[in-house]
Amino acid sequence: MKRFLLWAGVVIGASAIGVLLFLIYSTCVFGNHVYSPATCTEPEICERCGESHGEPLGHVYSEATCTEPSVCLRCGEHHADALGHEWLPATCTEPETCARCGMMQGEPLGHVTVDATYQTPSTCTRCGETFGEPLTPALAGRTYRELSIGEPVPYTTASSTDRTVDVTGTAEITDYRVIDGDDVFPAREGYEWHIATVRLVFSGEDAQNHGAQSAYTFGDYYILDNSITGHADENGMRTFAADWYGMRVKCWQKTGETVENDWYGQELRFTWEEGVQVPKGYDGVLLILHNFRLAEDATRLYLPASDVLDEDALVFRLK
Ligand SMILES: [Zn+2]
Ligand SMILES: [Zn+2]
Ligand SMILES: [Zn+2]
Ligand SMILES: [Zn+2]
Repeated sequence: MKRFLLWAGVVIGASAIGVLLFLIYSTCVFGNHVYSPATCTEPEICERCGESHGEPLGHVYSEATCTEPSVCLRCGEHHADALGHEWLPATCTEPETCARCGMMQGEPLGHVTVDATYQTPSTCTRCGETFGEPLTPALAGRTYRELSIGEPVPYTTASSTDRTVDVTGTAEITDYRVIDGDDVFPAREGYEWHIATVRLVFSGEDAQNHGAQSAYTFGDYYILDNSITGHADENGMRTFAADWYGMRVKCWQKTGETVENDWYGQELRFTWEEGVQVPKGYDGVLLILHNFRLAEDATRLYLPASDVLDEDALVFRLK
């Protein structure tokens, strides 16, 4: 009887161990789940009982680029399409370029240049880039005597009764103004008047005996000869041409009021206004006082500037 009990105990014990081992290795009753790793969309799941644990990992998307879509770096899931390039138009110097990735395609457009003028260097009409310098004015580097406002300087010209005799007095620009127009100088759209008051004073024996004959003409700082016409219209206007931003532009000259034209005591004085009507901002017109001897035999009223512009001529630039 005792032996039987012993054997029964052994069997029961062994069975209990077997059941225990079975429960441990084949079931999850002791919480010993066998989890598969979590994925982007699934949490950890027990391979035996299907119980889940934790949270899904969630996707980790790459940034979409111009050429690559956005995908999950872990599972490869497609998230968004490639963005495509954002093309900026080609310019003079750059081809079509993607604003995002900098990729380029095609060729730059190249500059579209217009020639230099006396006022502007060669310039691209598309981008405004400039090349080089404006054209060199005809009078750049030339030496001549320049008149300043309010400063009398010696002026020599032939006398009026005996042209073999030179008389020397003074010439002065006593006033200079820029106006749109007035009663004497009629306004014109897009133009302005540059008006100088010229004063010549002669004294001394030669002037008293023979008088003095003033002589002047007009020129142009940029083109030298502005071809002023001798003939005035019914309003006293004479035409000439300026070179303004590469265009030949019609301008007008008018001699204004005479303020003095007589002997005042021992002084023979001439004071009068000279106006030129030029495009607003034009700064090239030259009033040139020269020796009347140069004009003595000339058939025209205003000599070309190139004929009279020597180192004795007095030049006032109406700018
Ligand atoms: Zn389980
Ligand atoms: Zn994923
Ligand atoms: Zn791009
Ligand atoms: Zn350009």
